[in-house]
Amino acid sequence: MPSLDKTVAEPMIVFDGVEKRFGDNVVLSELSFTVAPGEHVCLIGPSGSGKTTILRLLMTLEKCDGGTISVAGQSLSHMTHNGRRVPADEKHVRDVRKRIGMVFQQFNLFPNMTVRGNLIEAPTRVLGMSKDEANARATELLDLVGLGDRIDSHPTQLSGGQQQRVAIARALAMRPDVLLLDEVTSALDPELVAGVLKLLRDIGSSTDITFLCVTHEMGFARDFSDRVMMFDGGRVIEDAAPEKLFTAPEHERTQAFLHAVV
Ligand code: ADP
Repeated sequence: MPSLDKTVAEPMIVFDGVEKRFGDNVVLSELSFTVAPGEHVCLIGPSGSGKTTILRLLMTLEKCDGGTISVAGQSLSHMTHNGRRVPADEKHVRDVRKRIGMVFQQFNLFPNMTVRGNLIEAPTRVLGMSKDEANARATELLDLVGLGDRIDSHPTQLSGGQQQRVAIARALAMRPDVLLLDEVTSALDPELVAGVLKLLRDIGSSTDITFLCVTHEMGFARDFSDRVMMFDGGRVIEDAAPEKLFTAPEHERTQAFLHAVV
């Protein structure tokens, strides 16, 4: 998105003083960051540092214990009603949530539906799209991900790489403003990883979708991101452009992490 000035636009994602606990385990504490519209941000760091929890909070699969999260200027916890700020109701949360797509490590396709069924389910049910329109979009997206001939297959008839392509197409079918990617190549056979990463690079360079990606693929983080955030213990310990973070990391912990994984 070279034409978009990412420094002045209102943020697409805002975490403001977010806290998340699981029992006594404080996973995120006073976490604040923003992501600009169209920006590609990768989250890296050791296992257990809270990266996936950030995506799950955005998807409202988890609730935060403090602070606020907003998407496109809309808070996930509050809304305005008759000019007053009140707790968000279900419809408000659903409306914010509609703007976000997520692709998971384990694909999470609906196993009892065909590829077509997987792609048209949410657009027809959640967005109220007509079946014809949803079918046309499904065909277009399957062509985009290179699976135009598999529309009537079931997920179990596809390889892991193909299933992940369907999952990516399914997320795009909702025309999201934000796409969350959670280690989307970790469950794939090594020979299938490059193809899925290339597809994501192609989508990244041809759309204005805002990406927030948890990844262990440092090569991908390096060439896909505008910014990389290094996490440790639920805190951002370094937040920099990839050229800087991968070549001259400032924090000792980042240096040790990169040394161990690259
Ligand atoms: P990462 O993605 O960086 O590997 P996670 O966000 O998955 O880290 O996990 C951060 C911490 O939160 C870990 O200590 C993990 O055990 C804990 N955690 C995550 N989800 C749950 C859950 N549903 N219940 C209890 N603890 C959880």
